[in-house]
Amino acid sequence: MPDFGSWATAWWKPILFVIVAGHLTNVSVTLFLHRAQTHRGVKLHFLAALPMRLWLWLSTAIVTKEWVACHRKHHAFADREGDPHSPLMEGLRNIVLKGAFYYRKTVRQPGVLDKYGKGTPNDWLERHLLSPLNWVGILVMLAVDIYLFGFFVGPLVWGVQMIWIPFWAAGIVNGVGHAVGYRNFDVKDESRNISPIAIWLGGEELHNNHHADPHSAKFKAKWYEFDIGWMYLRLLSIFGLAEISYARR
Ligand SMILES: [Zn+2]
Ligand SMILES: [Zn+2]
Repeated sequence: MPDFGSWATAWWKPILFVIVAGHLTNVSVTLFLHRAQTHRGVKLHFLAALPMRLWLWLSTAIVTKEWVACHRKHHAFADREGDPHSPLMEGLRNIVLKGAFYYRKTVRQPGVLDKYGKGTPNDWLERHLLSPLNWVGILVMLAVDIYLFGFFVGPLVWGVQMIWIPFWAAGIVNGVGHAVGYRNFDVKDESRNISPIAIWLGGEELHNNHHADPHSAKFKAKWYEFDIGWMYLRLLSIFGLAEISYARR
């Protein structure tokens, strides 16, 4: 076990931590919340889903049913009236800077969770910890960060972790991914692929490909594109930890 504050002894340690932790968060969002829970393109084994659920609890306070409902509603109304977060309707600046606000507004609307949030986990863990005590996880994370990085750097590291998903997912994917980039598919919404090499956001960069075939667990569509989330899924399936229900050819 590291000593109190010992991970703040070199400038690169907190930075490396934030990058690795952020990548784990992005991967948990794309594999568990997005590809498995929302669109059912893959079935994750309990042992693969559990660490992702716990990590999302610690690092984001996201409630699975809420996220799934908001995102399914986005697909149902993409870039039309009713889309929870369309840069076409609300302006790109608003979505990038206030993505979390639009998310909260949607999941609080009456009926949205019942209509769009069906089929998400309802086990003991979900009912007693992850949903009702979703805010406790991020406080545990704060304590861990303070222990590892001390009273000054610890809260800073935690602050970056807390704005990570509101910025990268709610802001960049939902905003930029519907405004800037290239299109492989002429779908009805404004979705764009932000970059053909999709590592940083776990594959979510290929957002136009995703809108063209939402059920597919594989976001890559062209030979020159790379979807790291799909690579992880193939690795998990080799070990029997993921079962691909559908993937585009
Ligand atoms: Zn979208
Ligand atoms: Zn989706």
